[in-house]
Amino acid sequence: MVGPIVYLIGAGPGDPGLMTVRGLECLSIADVVVYDYLANPRFLTSARQDAELVYVGKKGFSEHVTQDEINAVLVAKATEGGGKVVARLKGGDPFVFGRGGEEALALHEAGVPFEVVPGVTAGVAAPAYAGIPITHRGITADVAFVTGNEDPTKEMSDIAWEHLANAVGTICFYMGIKNLPGITARLIEFGRSPATPVALVRWGTTPRQQTLTGTLADIADKAAAADFQAPAIIVVGDVVHLRDKLSWFESKPLFGRTVIVTRSRAQASVLSSRLIDLGAEVLEMPAIEIVDPDSWEPVDAAVAALETYDWVVFTSANGVERFFGRVEACERDARAFAGAKVAAIGPATAARCMDFGIRPDYVPDEYVAEGLLEGFEERGLGDGTRVLIPRALEAREVLPDTLRERGCTVDVVPTYRTVLGAAEPSVIERIAEGSVDAVTFTSSSTVKNFMKMLEGTPAAERARELFAASIGPVTSDTARDLGLTVGVEAQEHTIPGLVQALLGAWGAGEDATD
Ligand code: SAH
Repeated sequence: MVGPIVYLIGAGPGDPGLMTVRGLECLSIADVVVYDYLANPRFLTSARQDAELVYVGKKGFSEHVTQDEINAVLVAKATEGGGKVVARLKGGDPFVFGRGGEEALALHEAGVPFEVVPGVTAGVAAPAYAGIPITHRGITADVAFVTGNEDPTKEMSDIAWEHLANAVGTICFYMGIKNLPGITARLIEFGRSPATPVALVRWGTTPRQQTLTGTLADIADKAAAADFQAPAIIVVGDVVHLRDKLSWFESKPLFGRTVIVTRSRAQASVLSSRLIDLGAEVLEMPAIEIVDPDSWEPVDAAVAALETYDWVVFTSANGVERFFGRVEACERDARAFAGAKVAAIGPATAARCMDFGIRPDYVPDEYVAEGLLEGFEERGLGDGTRVLIPRALEAREVLPDTLRERGCTVDVVPTYRTVLGAAEPSVIERIAEGSVDAVTFTSSSTVKNFMKMLEGTPAAERARELFAASIGPVTSDTARDLGLTVGVEAQEHTIPGLVQALLGAWGAGEDATD
């Protein structure tokens, strides 16, 4: 795709799953991505690596980039260097109180082609996630979307309050929290019953979603008492009652819990998406970054000499992936394994082997090095057996050492190195302020690096009080050694086992001992 073109993309209300397929498609081809605070920053990972990212949210503490400035940025970026593809990400839908119309007009006037990708608007999505259908047979046949930004006490109103109050069953106000007392007063003044139910839904569709319910008569006081803040949708109408039965999102087992995932970014997704699925807010703090070893020579030599090994032992999915990367780079394929038996520690490692066409000969029941050794003994491995272990540069030596003690010849080749990750300041802040419920550890090195990353920050002390969920006994020991509090340990030393342990610890879901 070549520019100039601007896609005005509705990024949905917050839940990254609520962006349209078309929106993601446009985002993924863009040269420039222009975004603001209402669009979920997670989407930026769907942009091209070399895409230019332009933030047009708050400039400083209170100063905003003006609409004229944003329009000018869109025109300038689209026409730069002979024409670029610009993805303009907007919260919700671009044309619903999003000033997308103004941006489109500016583009039209500048002669810049544009396309609009509608999005899921907050006025529909936030009530839906709060368990409120905005229309419902027998309750209401109509709904209105209204700006609550206008001061309801001003003399000449753009809103026909006298009609609005009683003409529609459901009214969804955007941007109305600041004016809530005025809005409710106006509706009552023009004849809406003070007993009409009202719901305020804040940060709808995100793990921070908060819903406050009341009536036209009391919701303003309740909101003030709870210090209820924007951004929120105000839903007025009898449909609000349905929430008593339909509140599906806020009743997820981990809703309201904030969990830190310390795995490397490349590996975090399985754990993170499972936790998000269960309703948790996930803060990723990759304690480990996985990088190439200093040299591929030892791995490549092993790949070339695969025929000479009796066993190849994979200890992680990463090891598998990277080893096969080199098999390919060396222009070989799975047939190189024909003469060797393959062992895989843990089901995820085994599954990764299967992806590359290798069915492991041996997957130990217990997913720790000690467990593996027992099984090897039963399989008659001993004097003279040649074993290859492709794995991280820095790992425990129990496995190679013990195999050597038993007479094996062992070659350990580093397929990756792990280095300390960089902590997001926002995550450190959350730990420091005590608004994190648990931290998950999937290996000893995630524990060590996590503590290292927090050294010298305001979160260092607070971290020791965090509820730590550990994948297994070795990881737990490391955590305890470093002064952390291990709240729960997975019975099965896998990611699903870890998730199950968290569910069990918080009394949500099946018993963790199952
Ligand atoms: N174009 C957007 C609306 C932008 S106006 C859309 O279609 O959704 C900004 C207002 O939208 C906020 O003041 C708030 O009222 C509402 N809003 C946006 N995201 C929201 C969310 N996740 N939960 C509740 N309200 C939200």
